[in-house]
Amino acid sequence: MDLNARLVAQRAAFAAEPWPSLAVRRSRLDRLLALTVDHEDQIVAAIDADFGGRSAHETRLAELFVVAGGIRHARAHLKRWSCTRRVPTALHFRPARNRLMPQPLGVVGIVSPWNYPFQLALGPCVAALAAGNRVMIKPSELTPCFSALLARLIAAAFDPDEVAVVTGGVDVGQAFVGLPFDHLFFTGSTAVGRQVAVAAAANLTPVTLELGGKSPAIVDRSADPVQAAERIAFAKLLNAGQTCIAPDYLLVPRGMARPMADHLAAAVRRLYPAMPETPDYTAILSPRHRDRLAALVEDARGHGAQVVALADPQRAGAKYPPTLILDATPAMRVMREEIFGPLLPILEVDDIDAAIAHVVAGDRPLALYWFGRDAGRRDRILRETHAGGVTINDCLWHLAQEDQPFGGVGASGTGAYHGEWGFRTFSHYKPVLDQPRLAGTALFHPPYGKRFDRL
Ligand code: NAD
Repeated sequence: MDLNARLVAQRAAFAAEPWPSLAVRRSRLDRLLALTVDHEDQIVAAIDADFGGRSAHETRLAELFVVAGGIRHARAHLKRWSCTRRVPTALHFRPARNRLMPQPLGVVGIVSPWNYPFQLALGPCVAALAAGNRVMIKPSELTPCFSALLARLIAAAFDPDEVAVVTGGVDVGQAFVGLPFDHLFFTGSTAVGRQVAVAAAANLTPVTLELGGKSPAIVDRSADPVQAAERIAFAKLLNAGQTCIAPDYLLVPRGMARPMADHLAAAVRRLYPAMPETPDYTAILSPRHRDRLAALVEDARGHGAQVVALADPQRAGAKYPPTLILDATPAMRVMREEIFGPLLPILEVDDIDAAIAHVVAGDRPLALYWFGRDAGRRDRILRETHAGGVTINDCLWHLAQEDQPFGGVGASGTGAYHGEWGFRTFSHYKPVLDQPRLAGTALFHPPYGKRFDRL
């Protein structure tokens, strides 16, 4: 069936059941959970094949565990999220009554990237189904084994008018985002996000854009450098840095770059004693992506950076050694482009003013990390910089909070999801006013006389 016909069929199915009961929504979530739990090994194997070596632990931790947790959370809170709420009514409108009614939008399109292919295709799907929508998913062509598996698993668990997976490359992606969905949810690069926003605007389709950017980690003088280094190393090397909220670069106080590099090297040895061969360390998706990282390193070297590889490149194979880039300057490509790999530039700054000035001079990042104990400087960072989300004294973990929204700001994205925030994204909150037989608003009808001469 072609894309448009699939959308028309889903729309007709939605029209036949515009208000799915809690039981129907729970059944859809249960099927999604069963798909996750029953096919765990197949999912791990497919993503491993696509990456040419994806840590099975990382797939379980950052994809299966996250999605299963999100489904259980949605199931547990569905009744409260979906109920119509009484809302106060101003005195001069009484005895009319206000209520706010979350209504499913209809058919939702989801476009997902390759780096966490399971989490980023199904995370938004959980929220869309909980909110009562029909869903079409377009996963990445760069993870073909996983995308084919997802299409099979979804087809076995769902009627195609409930959830359908559409596979294909950029041409299919372009056609997909041109469909008049009731909502379009895109996760991917900022450059493609811009094109998606334009395509959606032609249909006045509302969009959520979960994009990328350069997320800074700022280490304050008051930080414990050993602890900060271990947490930064973990976050940077998870999925070999191919993580949208990975700390992209480090800002450290003047004189601390080399001590910090030593702490990072020690942390990498502790976390990955057999780097780079260890199966805990994930490969880079493709030769093209590896070449891009190598070109970033060469460019940095050409600009006078000191490059410290924390594993033997000769033994790295499809992996890329964790690499520190000292004496980084804003002119280097590695400081201008999202890195999306295990390269960590370290910049020295004079003080907190310089750190803030550096962050606010660039695009608003998806995440920001601050390490330290000084509450005054921490609060300045929180108040004077923008970022999609923040973790203090660690990295990444704000994403895993089902009770907090996850999303970007400015160039790193528009809108949010996770937990109830995802339910809200895929619902229209319809305000309803019930007017009784005897209505106070009769006072507002003409003839007006002198009633409204003064406020
Ligand atoms: P991408 O933008 O190249 O591709 C994402 C998806 O869009 C894929 O399914 C692709 O087929 C499709 N696509 C590509 N060109 C298209 C077009 N012109 N029109 C419509 N669809 C198109 O991103 P990627 O390389 O797969 O993923 C990496 C990027 O995603 C990084 O920038 C990363 O920061 C970002 N990302 C963001 C989040 C987040 O939650 N904010 C999560 C993961 C990744």
